[in-house]
Amino acid sequence: MITNLADLVVSNSYAGLPSAFYTSIAPQALSEPRMLHINQVLAAELGLSPELLADPAWLEIMSGARPLPGGQTIATVYSGHQFGVWAGQLGDGRAHLLGEIETPQGPVELQLKGSGQTPYSRMGDGRAVLRSSVREYLASEAMAGLGIPTTRALGIVVSDDPVYRETIETAAIVLRTSPSFVRFGTFEHFSKQPEHLQALLDYVVDRFYPDCRTLADGTQASSTDVALCFLAHVVELTAVLMADWLTCGFCHGVMNTDNMSVLGLTIDYGPYGFMDAFQANHICNLTDTQGRYAWHAQGSVAWWNVHRLAGSLMAVGPDAAMLKQVLEPYEKHFLQAYRQKMVAKFGLREWQTDDDALFDGWWRLLHDSQADFTQSFRALATAPENREGFVKLFSDHEAAQNWLDDYMARVAADALPTSERQQHMNAVNPLYVLRNHLAQQAIDAAQAGDVSEIETLLRLLRDPYRHHPGYEDYARPPAPGQRTPALSCSS
Ligand code: AMP
Ligand code: MG
Repeated sequence: MITNLADLVVSNSYAGLPSAFYTSIAPQALSEPRMLHINQVLAAELGLSPELLADPAWLEIMSGARPLPGGQTIATVYSGHQFGVWAGQLGDGRAHLLGEIETPQGPVELQLKGSGQTPYSRMGDGRAVLRSSVREYLASEAMAGLGIPTTRALGIVVSDDPVYRETIETAAIVLRTSPSFVRFGTFEHFSKQPEHLQALLDYVVDRFYPDCRTLADGTQASSTDVALCFLAHVVELTAVLMADWLTCGFCHGVMNTDNMSVLGLTIDYGPYGFMDAFQANHICNLTDTQGRYAWHAQGSVAWWNVHRLAGSLMAVGPDAAMLKQVLEPYEKHFLQAYRQKMVAKFGLREWQTDDDALFDGWWRLLHDSQADFTQSFRALATAPENREGFVKLFSDHEAAQNWLDDYMARVAADALPTSERQQHMNAVNPLYVLRNHLAQQAIDAAQAGDVSEIETLLRLLRDPYRHHPGYEDYARPPAPGQRTPALSCSS
């Protein structure tokens, strides 16, 4: 455990890339910053002691007033496709990379979000509001608790500095952590600069996909082979991530290529939502009027996005036919991951051909009744023993009875002991997800300086599969008066 700032081992691999990759720029510190919350669980995983994070110097670092000792503070550049349209250059418009620290889990980058303007801010003020910062903080822990790959956040600093959105809000900074924040859009940015593209590819491959350096026969891979191998990894990780999102009812909301991680992590939490009432075409982002990023579209949008990544790799060797071949397994990976997760959620031994019809019938049932996503999956474990209670979750009782008959026949054919089946199912169907109204309650309290709701949610979301006595309300869908409207991109 590191207890002294001086003992942190800090390096700056990203700043070692050519200067075209970033701008060295100091954050704009928040005035009179206060630590709203520290993620002690993540801190412990990273080997950072509570003493270190309680050091006043740590608050200065988190509020943008002081660099990480030995860190080179930079804002990185990237480009991207937003809502299907090439947006050109974007970049860290309100984020600063402080450097990377050595941890028991390997090197981890520390990044401030909401830390002021950079050359990539375009029209933005460089700030983030408390509301969106708490949402990012809680969501990344919720994802981690579900076992879904994600960036994390080490804490939130707040200030009374005003930030102008639809209303006047107050500023906050989140300290995010990730092995890397490189996006599809980073590759897109350098797609026409072969030397820089090669440098980026080498950087990412050396750090994260070193297996791409050698071919199956043990010989050294060419630049073309390295690029194809890198793409193959991203294709697979992205397909699996989409299966993760879909099967926990998560909508990202802004799946632009600049918000897609080349490590297959969930990144850039904005107007995301964990669904309450299921609608296959649920849209969580008010700005997404066409439903490009609706729940059911996420798998195919990610497929479109990996094509944009693939297209950006041509300057380092691969031709269109080679890229197409590497992109092709996306669907196979997605289906495999999706079926595997659904089989587990349904408490089945292994996937059989007819199961797809059972799954489709389930989505249809949920959709037609707009049943609660999380509750319905959780109720499946006891559905065969508690027909009546299960059927009541759906407005169309007859449809629910019919589907349940099929499900019970399928379960009976597997002949798993009931308690074993239920145990397996309860280990993959969460009781607690970060419903929007729960996040909103925590935000309202935090705005008044009370972090108890954040603490409660973190406790539940880090251990979401177990029943926590006394916290039954947190497992329920919002009451009519608690429902929150869809969110805009404004954060
Ligand atoms: P997003 O889709 O929210 O991940 O952001 C898209 C782009 O807008 C990124 O380049 C962000 O850095 C930038 N951006 C978003 N909000 C702000 C802001 N308040 N100030 C400056 N840049 C911003
Ligand atoms: Mg973004």
